[in-house]
Amino acid sequence: MQNVDVLVRGAGAVGQCLALALARDGLRVALCDEPAAAKHGDDVRAYALNAASAELLRELKVWQALPPSAVTAVHEMRVHGDAPGARLEFSAWQQHVDALAWIVDAQALHEQLEAALRFAPQVLRTPFDVQAPLTAPDVKARLTALDVKAPLTALCEGKNSATRAAFGVRVERSDFGQKAIAARLTASRNHQNVARQWFRSPDVLALLPLDAPQASMSYALVWSCPTARADELLHLSEREFELELMQASGAAVGELQLCSPRMAWPLVQMNAQPWCGPGWVLLGDAAHVVHPLAGQGLNLGLADVAALSQVLAQREPWRGLGDERLLRRYVRNRAAPTWAMSQLTGGLLQLFSHPAPAVRELRNRGLTLVNHLPPLKRWLNARATHS
Ligand SMILES: Cc1cc2nc3c(=O)[nH]c(=O)nc-3n(C[C@H](O)[C@H](O)[C@H](O)COP(=O)(O)OP(=O)(O)OC[C@H]3O[C@@H](n4cnc5c(N)ncnc54)[C@H](O)[C@@H]3O)c2cc1C
Repeated sequence: MQNVDVLVRGAGAVGQCLALALARDGLRVALCDEPAAAKHGDDVRAYALNAASAELLRELKVWQALPPSAVTAVHEMRVHGDAPGARLEFSAWQQHVDALAWIVDAQALHEQLEAALRFAPQVLRTPFDVQAPLTAPDVKARLTALDVKAPLTALCEGKNSATRAAFGVRVERSDFGQKAIAARLTASRNHQNVARQWFRSPDVLALLPLDAPQASMSYALVWSCPTARADELLHLSEREFELELMQASGAAVGELQLCSPRMAWPLVQMNAQPWCGPGWVLLGDAAHVVHPLAGQGLNLGLADVAALSQVLAQREPWRGLGDERLLRRYVRNRAAPTWAMSQLTGGLLQLFSHPAPAVRELRNRGLTLVNHLPPLKRWLNARATHS
């Protein structure tokens, strides 16, 4: 039996970052994940990461190690409504920041986090017990089977976490009835570091600038549509899909060509309760899931990592790592920003998918009005920067 300080379950970006952050602070960590066979292939997504996430990754020495083509700064953001001329624009120079966000290749980020973990002697990689049954009542047996003893278990198992039920966690889940299609594209025009989003009632289309595979000419696509429409788009030939995309984006970025397979994710909003108990704590999508329209899910998860590692590092010398009172400090720190972000994303989606003409008029006027209010834009940008 191995004794460690923290057992991290789940090696997505949140679990990987948590293991690195805790090891940096001198704790002994065991990190376990599902067997590779249970996972899908390469991730075609790119994450829009905010300044706080970039800072955490820099502290973990991962940001600097990412290949330059895997990180693209966003200098401008254009959000289009569903009426002619209704749009909201943000620019880095107006906000007095270097970049509004960075678009980061998901696969490159996971690989770099994995590379950093190989150089972290404090992190023990624990094989997952594939033999043990997956059902909730057996999770305790499964934890024992891991052959690891830790005063604190951090669950970073993503939105379908099986282990959290064993700790009595309830999950409130609402299905948006949508799927997000992600893919990589190349365009005939330079992206000029502009991120674009169209609220098209009921779908939301985002084209995020990327420098790979073709420098200055690539985009990451996130297209959220009602499920039936998404399935229809997924079944189109590549050429037909590209034509649909050109029409939806009003050819604003020129000719678009697919350069990856299309992948889809069903979209839900989810909140788990409670987020901690004696000897355990939830982080990332295992605790909360928001709609990807604001590109904030991973940013919230990385903010969880920063908050939990700080709370653990600043604990009183006599307090154990699994002390529920200590873990509640982390929950208090994270509850309000997470709640605000899920209200904002859920509310925006509702507002922009409502079919009534009066609501349509109102949302498009609202968008244009906000565009003329620089202080409000600064406030919105600050909220998105520090989730
Ligand atoms: C289309 C799309 C676009 C997005 N774009 C953005 C964006 O631009 N910006 C942003 O911030 N966020 C974005 N998100 C959200 C972001 O992808 C998630 O919030 C983030 O990946 C969650 O990370 P995680 O580590 O918590 O969970 P996951 O990435 O789901 O990782 C969970 C890990 O736990 C493992 N696991 C599962 N069960 C067990 C178990 N029982 N035992 C051990 N291990 C287990 C899994 O194998 C996996 O490795 C997007 C999401 C989607 C769907």
